[in-house]
Order: sequence, then structure tokens, then C-alpha cells
Amino acid sequence: MVNWHRLRKRIHLICFLIFLVLPFFNVIRFDIPRQRFYFFGYELWINEFGIIFFAMMFLMFVVVVASVILGRVYCGYLCPQMIFSEASTAVQGWLRKRLKKRPALAGPAFYAIAAAGSVFLAFTFVAYFVEPRDLARRLLATDLRTAAGVSGAVVTLLTFLDFSVLRLRFCTTACPYGYLQGMLSDGNTLLVEYRDEGHTCIECKKCVRDCPMCIDIRHSPFQIECVHCGECIDSCNAILGRLKKPLPGLIHYSWGVEDKPRFPFDAKRVVLLLVLVFYATGLFAALSTRHAVLVRVSPDRSTLYRAGADGRIYNKFRYTLANRSHKPAAVLFSLEHLPGASLAMDPVALQPGQSVEGEFEISSPAGSRGDLVTHFEIRTSTIPEQVADTFPMTFISPTEAK
Ligand code: SF4
Ligand code: SF4
Repeated sequence: MVNWHRLRKRIHLICFLIFLVLPFFNVIRFDIPRQRFYFFGYELWINEFGIIFFAMMFLMFVVVVASVILGRVYCGYLCPQMIFSEASTAVQGWLRKRLKKRPALAGPAFYAIAAAGSVFLAFTFVAYFVEPRDLARRLLATDLRTAAGVSGAVVTLLTFLDFSVLRLRFCTTACPYGYLQGMLSDGNTLLVEYRDEGHTCIECKKCVRDCPMCIDIRHSPFQIECVHCGECIDSCNAILGRLKKPLPGLIHYSWGVEDKPRFPFDAKRVVLLLVLVFYATGLFAALSTRHAVLVRVSPDRSTLYRAGADGRIYNKFRYTLANRSHKPAAVLFSLEHLPGASLAMDPVALQPGQSVEGEFEISSPAGSRGDLVTHFEIRTSTIPEQVADTFPMTFISPTEAK
């Protein structure tokens, strides 16, 4: 039989490690000062709207689908608020036991640990929005002037109050996800249910005493406080097991109150999973077609053309280049389908993270074009990525040149 408490604590440890690793290894960070979105090794620029849109929608639908199917399992098993609240309660209990002979020390010792833990956790949380080394510099300089410094101080204070005073009360009073879950769940959502057709319950109330949310699941499986942690299931199994009663006990996970034996695949879930697959595919496609060096070329039509003293006709163009990689890069320009024309431009070198805007001219001998407008292409290729781009353009010549 599954021991949900043990499973939950193992998942809590894994989640805690993931929570630490994600921002420090650039797996996920919405870097506000740099205007970058780090997503599983990709450094996305804020103007890469398509990818960021698909990434956000994908993450949002993961939450929605998980809530519809698994109910508040996220709260009980994955939520950092739950993990740290339970950890702070455990630390407080452990200190009380260890300092039984000097109880006056237990309170200050706990608040000192909570303060140190709050600084560390707040630092990790803010690192999801500010680069960690940059944040460490601000912390060491006790920066309280910039937005990042003020945010760090406010989050530290809130974390300390949360883990020393509020704890799981937050889940039932302020957590928006808890209210959202109430709207997303339906008759097939996973829940924790008490069922006692054989009148086996011995009224020991161990399930109530062990419930972190202090509720009695026997009253209803739909109580908003229930975070589906499964602690009451373990409690009932333990008590009835000791009394040699049939197991599993009277409380169990169930797909809806009708206790469907398997995951019910109804139309709503199929649609939600399809939407999730759609956004995952869009995200995959957007990431796989992404180029590390952004190249944009457009005509500058503030003047249609310029007649040079050298007898050539000049058209002006603009370029925007951005090196979104960690390596130096260069962009080469060339012309196609414009015989006799020349483009006087050296390769543009770009340092990692550098953006460059500029303009250049293409010239063609006067009278060499038969038409007012000649269609041609500007081609670019990047080094070292070797990605080629083609930009269809028009060259405008004076009509009297005919
Ligand atoms: S009722 Fe059971 S599943 Fe719900 S919060 Fe309490 S212990 Fe966890
Ligand atoms: S732990 Fe089981 S037997 Fe005890 S009160 Fe709860 S449901 Fe009844």
C-alpha cells in the first residue's frame, strides 16, 4: 500500500531542489533588468513574442490541465508554500523537543533560523526575475534603492511572516490558486473521499488530528481547505491496520465521488489535452525555427533614390541585427538578381548580446535598369551559425533613365 506521507516528503525534496536549480542554471527566469526570458537553455529576447507567448500558454495550460484532472494535488505535493510551511512547522517542533530543558531558547532559535531561511528563499525567489550574481551584489551592498533591492527586502519580510506566522492559513485565505481550483474541478476530478458503507469508523479522529489543514474529511470531499495531501489516508490505514481491520481504510483517492476505477477520459479532458499538445507543438516549432542571430532588413524610402556624382543611382536600406547567443557572430550581406549593382558593406561583427542598427546603400549604374522598379533580393548569412536569410526588395531608378 502506498505511504502517501513518505511519497509526499520525497516529492517535496525533489521540488525544493528543482526550485533552487531552475533560476541558478537559467532553466526558467524572467530576467526583468535584462529583458530576457530564460527557458530550458534558451535565452529569449523580450521581442521574441511568438516563443514567449507559446511558452506562457503552455505553462498555463499545464496548470489548468493538472487542476482539472488532479485537483489540488499540486497544493499538497508540489507547492513551495506548502513545502516551506510544513518544513518550518517541523523545525519548530524539532527545536521544542531539543530544547525541552531550556524552553526560553526555542522561540529565539526558531526565529533566527526562520530569518536566515527567509533571506535564502527570498533570494532564490527573486532570482527568478533578476540574475543571481547581480542579485548577490545588490544584497551584499544592502541595496534598498533599486526595484530589485526593494523587491528582495519585501519578499524576505513576507517570507519571514509567512513561515513564522501565516503558514498554511495562507492556503485557505489568500491563495488565488485555491479559488481557481474551485472553478476548474468537476465531477471527475481527483479528490480525497471518506467512504464507510460497513460502519467501520471507530471515531478515533486520527485523520482529523493529522490533517495539516485541520479539517474533518468525513464531512465532505469538497471542502475548499483540503489540499489532497493524503495524510488522512495514511492515518486511517495505520489505525485500522493496527486493529486488524480490512485495508485499505475508509479514506482514499477517488476520481469523483462515484469512485471511478480509472481515469475518466471525457470530452472536456480530451479537449484540454489537445489544447496542451497544440501549445507544446507551437512552442517546439517556434524554438526549433529560432535563429540565434536576428537579422532584419527593410528599405528606407524617405528618399526614393539618390543620383550620385559618379553616375550611379543609389537606394538606401536599413538593417537591425541582434546576437542572441553567447558567442561572437558576424553577418554578411550579398545581392541577387540585380546585375551591375554593388553593395559597399563589410560583414557586421556582433558581440554576444549586442544589437546593432544601421543603414547602407546599394548602387547601380544610371540607365542600366529598364524599369522604374526592379525586384531583387538581399541575402544574408551568419557566421558561425551559417543561417541564410533572403529579403525580397525593390530597387527604384529614375524614369528618365529609361
Ligand atoms: S483532509 Fe486529508 S487530504 Fe485533505 S488536507 Fe486534510 S489530510 Fe490532506
Ligand atoms: S482515522 Fe479512520 S477510523 Fe479514525 S476517525 Fe478517521 S476515518 Fe474514522
